[in-house]
Order: sequence, then C-alpha cells, then structure tokens
Amino acid sequence: MTDRVIKSDAEWRDELDDETYRVTRQAGTERPFSHPGFPKGPGHYECVCCGARLFDGDAKFESYCGWPSFSRPGGAIDEHRDASHGMTRTEVRCHRCDAHLGHVFPDGPPPTGLRYCINGVALRFVPDAV
Ligand SMILES: [Zn+2]
Repeated sequence: MTDRVIKSDAEWRDELDDETYRVTRQAGTERPFSHPGFPKGPGHYECVCCGARLFDGDAKFESYCGWPSFSRPGGAIDEHRDASHGMTRTEVRCHRCDAHLGHVFPDGPPPTGLRYCINGVALRFVPDAV
C-alpha cells in the first residue's frame, strides 16, 4: 500500500478547523451528542482528513452513548492499545492518514459484539449516488 497520507503537524493544523485538529491529530474527544444529525439512508462514512472509506452506513447503530457507533469497520482502520486516562482501551485510527477516530468496545450488538465509538467530527457522510 503506497497511498498513505503523511502530512506535517503544521499542514494538518492549517487544513483542519480547531476542533477537528484537536480530535483527529491530538487524540481528543468531542463532547457527547455534538454530532446527532448524520443523515440516514444509504451511504458510507469517510475520514474527514484524507477521504478514506471507514464505515458502511448500514453498520451504524443507535447506542445512545453520545457518539456515532458502528458494529464493524468498513475500510482500513488500525487498532492500537491505549492505556491513557487510567483505562486500557482499544483506539481506532484511520490506516491511511493515522487520524484518531475513537475507540472500539466489546459491548456492541451481534454478530460482531463490537461497538466502534467514533467522534462525529472525524467522519464525513457520503450518500450513495442515486
Ligand atoms: Zn484518514
């Protein structure tokens, strides 16, 4: 794979708004319920930083946790062990540009049993072409 997107911190800071930069490049977390309004309907979600496809729209489910939640990855996502904040969690990042997306927890719906809990600011919804 040679399509990785690698930019300097200054470039990202220049391209992204403050909140997007803080979440995706500094592993921040947006306030819960700050992105309730993703459209429903057929489509997928891509990385706001590099446009890589990350999740299928039909993997999104309502978890009531305050962040967009998905039951399975729909693209190239890297998982890293994250021991910050006194917890051991699994962080998920965009494989292509290394953007921090959120975390994955083992309390999702069947069949995967996974809940990808993702910052809405890191995602862009792309409706299917009609
Ligand atoms: Zn990306």
